[in-house]
Amino acid sequence: MKIKPVKNSRLAEVDYTNLGFGDYFSDHMVTCEFSDGAWGEPSIVPFSSIELSPAALALHYGQTVFEGLKAFRGTVDHKVRLFRVDRNAARITVSCTRLCIPAPDESLVIESIKQLVMLDQDWAPSRRGEALYVRPVLIATEPHLAVRPASQYRLLIFTSPVCEYFAQAKSPLYLKAEERYTRAPHGGTGYAKTASNYSVTLRPMNDSVEDGFDQILWLDGQEHRYVEEAGQMNMFFRLGDSVVTPDLSGTILPGVTRESVLTLLADMGVTATERRLSMDELFQAQNEGELYEAFGAGTASVVVPIGRIRYQDDDLCFPEDQPGNLCPKLYDMILGIQHGELEDRHSWMIALE
Ligand SMILES: *Cc1c(COP(=O)(O)O)cnc(C)c1O
Repeated sequence: MKIKPVKNSRLAEVDYTNLGFGDYFSDHMVTCEFSDGAWGEPSIVPFSSIELSPAALALHYGQTVFEGLKAFRGTVDHKVRLFRVDRNAARITVSCTRLCIPAPDESLVIESIKQLVMLDQDWAPSRRGEALYVRPVLIATEPHLAVRPASQYRLLIFTSPVCEYFAQAKSPLYLKAEERYTRAPHGGTGYAKTASNYSVTLRPMNDSVEDGFDQILWLDGQEHRYVEEAGQMNMFFRLGDSVVTPDLSGTILPGVTRESVLTLLADMGVTATERRLSMDELFQAQNEGELYEAFGAGTASVVVPIGRIRYQDDDLCFPEDQPGNLCPKLYDMILGIQHGELEDRHSWMIALE
């Protein structure tokens, strides 16, 4: 791959004692263009602003797709490895198909990410839970005004050293089950990682934060009764003697962390089912003393405990520090695998060479 290295690295400007999420961007980025019906060769160049026509279709009609994954530094050998990059590459194909974007070869995406992370591996933090976050984004660059798929695109991939998304949160999250707004309707784009799914959440998010909530728990768009997901996290509940997560009905994002949690739960011998789950069922389980735990799962936040969920005028409450809680166990297992401290039974970690 063609590489144009930076003259002077900005690495020394990073405050690794106080990383935040998305405050810093590493030295280099991948760029690759689609025109005349084909993707060109990717190359690596210094991270910089890009030139874009004011008429670029992505800016007006949101023909874009993005991804998010992480690379971790091994606690023992200090080597940097990617977590399940193949799953994110596969999801790019799914998202692109929904958005009428010609999907680049998954091998091109994976190889580009490996080369980029290899080149900027010194940027990967070494503290447990911190990571080098990788952000691929595809945008329609063709200047035009008609609402139709573009004929020109650009793939950009850059990285950012990050701490955990909710690292600053002092206590389990307080969610508002959203009864008015909808994130994604049936037949919409909920399962694709595309910009419009996030812009529609800004106003509801803003309002709920003003009301003292940490995040929104999205409910189904038709009846506002069934659990979907929370922010950029898939949801898990422990009720009775099993774990339930909403099934992938097309309105929620099929998370790589969700998939990993389901695999780890199976390894632990815990029964987990993917199915529709109503707020009524959760309140009934609470009344019967059978509702034990809720947590969110996503790349940015790993797994985070939920303390309380407001629905109508009632709260679902999840007691902290229960001995049977799965969230802390899953957290330790996932981070243990990601930092090379635990055996990687499912070959999730991918070396850079
Ligand atoms: C990215 C994302 C998730 C989590 O997916 P991961 O692959 O685990 O990071 C969940 N919900 C939404 C809406 C997302 O954008």
